[in-house]
Amino acid sequence: MAGILIAMADGTPQEQQRAAHALCPICGMKSEYFASIKDAHRLFHSRVFPYWYCGNCCSFFQHPQVEEHELAYVYDAYYRRIVECTSSARKEMPTTTSHSSTVVQMKGKRILDVGCGDGSFFVNSGYEELYGIEPTKVVAERAKQKGIRVHEGDFESASYPDEFFDTITFIHVLEHLRDPHYVLEKIKEWLKPHGSIVIQTPNADSNINRLFRQHSQLFAAPAHFYQFSFKSLDVLARPHGLKVVGKRRIGLPESWALSYNIKTFGVQDNTCIRTGLVLLIARLLEHLSSLNNRQAAIEVQLAKL
Ligand SMILES: [Zn+2]
Repeated sequence: MAGILIAMADGTPQEQQRAAHALCPICGMKSEYFASIKDAHRLFHSRVFPYWYCGNCCSFFQHPQVEEHELAYVYDAYYRRIVECTSSARKEMPTTTSHSSTVVQMKGKRILDVGCGDGSFFVNSGYEELYGIEPTKVVAERAKQKGIRVHEGDFESASYPDEFFDTITFIHVLEHLRDPHYVLEKIKEWLKPHGSIVIQTPNADSNINRLFRQHSQLFAAPAHFYQFSFKSLDVLARPHGLKVVGKRRIGLPESWALSYNIKTFGVQDNTCIRTGLVLLIARLLEHLSSLNNRQAAIEVQLAKL
């Protein structure tokens, strides 16, 4: 369900965009134009990517969505950096530290991680059978070497038997997929009756977004098609016979430092998060965000109704 432009006004293209409305792909309600955002790594010269905000379910979405060939260019550059950089430089990559702790808490025999990357996050999860979906060949190969049964391809091409998995995880992945309704409709068939879906994703309702707005690192244009909130994930799940049975907020201090970096210098330079003082301040800000429940990331656990 792509967002659909439903109204246009006269004027310059920018004025037209501000005056236009789009339907939220999650809840279907009329949404407001938010900003046109450059990619933070400046892979594209002067290209901007329009984002919209839905006040009904509290979510951001990209509309129109970037073309597939442009997206491939973004991911090629991203993974080339991972593969080429040394182990010390790899520490520059933004990380979410609580992946494995989440998965460990889940119970079961068979787990699927959608967008599993090199599989690092669930190799010690305690599950007997580890499955992954990963479209990028170079990291999919690394996951296979760890004993993970990887479907090397995109989500659309993946297929598993009905009621096959105890747990299905999306660790900062759902926001990268074009149509989250299609995703949930498909994976609910793969889930055992008492199984769980775990989604970790940037928080649309975060203090980082409030302070940095279009400079927030959480947009990650154009790779992120969405930013969700607890409300929008609940709205997303219900039409598919799924409900939220658990939720928590997750701090991402690095995102404060990276957002400041983008706002100040116009480009994301990950070396800033190697500075001790910067990270200390970022941790403090994310701690303060926890006081009003607006940390940078959220996690929900979904179960079948
Ligand atoms: Zn909405």
